[in-house]
Amino acid sequence: MLLYRDTIELMKNTLRELLVPVLTSRPVSAIANRFLGRSVPIFSVHRLEQEVNITTGITPKHLRNCLNYLRSEGFQLVSLEDLIQALLNHATLPDKAVVFTMDDGYIEQADITASIFIEFDCPLTFFVITDMIDQVMWPWDAQVSWIINNTSKTSLSIELPDELIHMDISDSDSRNTARQKIRDIFKELDAEALSAMIRRLAQAAGIAVPSIAPPPYQALNWQTARSLEQKGIRFAPHSRTHRILSKLSGESAREEITGSWQTLQRELSNPLKVFCYPTGRLFDYGPREISYLHEAGFLGATSSLPGVVDLLNDDAEQQVYCLPRISLPNSMAYFIQCCSWIEHANRNRSL
Ligand SMILES: [Zn+2]
Repeated sequence: MLLYRDTIELMKNTLRELLVPVLTSRPVSAIANRFLGRSVPIFSVHRLEQEVNITTGITPKHLRNCLNYLRSEGFQLVSLEDLIQALLNHATLPDKAVVFTMDDGYIEQADITASIFIEFDCPLTFFVITDMIDQVMWPWDAQVSWIINNTSKTSLSIELPDELIHMDISDSDSRNTARQKIRDIFKELDAEALSAMIRRLAQAAGIAVPSIAPPPYQALNWQTARSLEQKGIRFAPHSRTHRILSKLSGESAREEITGSWQTLQRELSNPLKVFCYPTGRLFDYGPREISYLHEAGFLGATSSLPGVVDLLNDDAEQQVYCLPRISLPNSMAYFIQCCSWIEHANRNRSL
C-alpha cells in the first residue's frame, strides 16, 4: 500500500517537473492570465530545517533559489499591506505580484531567514507571538515538539478524554508522525484541557517542561525586532500565546488579538495592524474573531487556508479577514506552479 502511494506521488512529482515549465512559459501565461483574471499568492514561511531537533522546514538555499527565480523572471515582490490596500480600494497591483509572510518569531527566523529577505530587498511581514518574545511562555505546539524530541522513551501511551493512544517514537520518522498526530489531537482541545494534556504528555514522556523555551525554541528579542524593523521588516501580531482562538472564551480570544497588538505598539515604531490567526485552519477562527478584528480597526487577517488572493473578488471586505496563504513549498516546481496562473485555475475549480 505504501509502495503504491509512493509510486503515485513520484509520478505526480515527475509530471509536475515536466509540465510546469511549459505551462508557466511566457506565451501560455499571457493567454491564461487574460482569461483567469488577477490573482496574487501570499506565501507563509515557517521554520528553517535545523540539524538539532527540528527536521522539517525549508533550507536557506531553497529560499534563496525561490527569491532568485522571482527576481530573474520579473515578478514584483509586494508587501502584504499593499496587497490589502489594493483589495480594499479595488486597485491594481503590478503584474506578477507575490507576497511573503513569516509566522511565529523564533530566533533563527530573525537571524537567518529575515536576513535573506533583506538581502533580496523583498518585503516581509513577520507575524509574531508576543508573549513568546516577552518570555512569558513558549507555545504549546513547540512544547509538544520538544517533549517528543527530548524524551528518552521509545514509545508513549497517553490517555486522552475518549481513548488511550499508544505511539512508537523509536526513530525520527515515527517521532514526526507522533508529533503531528498529537498536535492534531491537541488542536481540538479547549484552553484548560490543552494545559492538562501537555502536563499528561510530559508525565508520560518522563520529562519536565522548562518554563523558559530551550534552544532551538527560543524567540527573538525586542531589540532584534527593532533592528529588523529599521531594515524594512514589518512586524504584525500572531496572538499572545498561539492558542486557537475558536477554543477560547470570547474574552480570552479578544485579549489574544488586542493584547498582542498593544505589545507590538509598545515595543516597535511601525507595526502593521493585520492579524494572523494561530494555526489558521477553517475552524480555528470564525465570525466572532472577525467581528473583534473589525471593531478594533484591523486592516485584515491572514489564515492558513490554501489558495491565492483574487484581486477581482467582489467581496473584498470579507476576503480581507480570511486571506488565504500557501505554505512555501519545498519543491521548486510546485513553488513555480503556485506563482503562476495554474494555482488560480486550481482554486477556481475547487470553489
Ligand atoms: Zn503560528
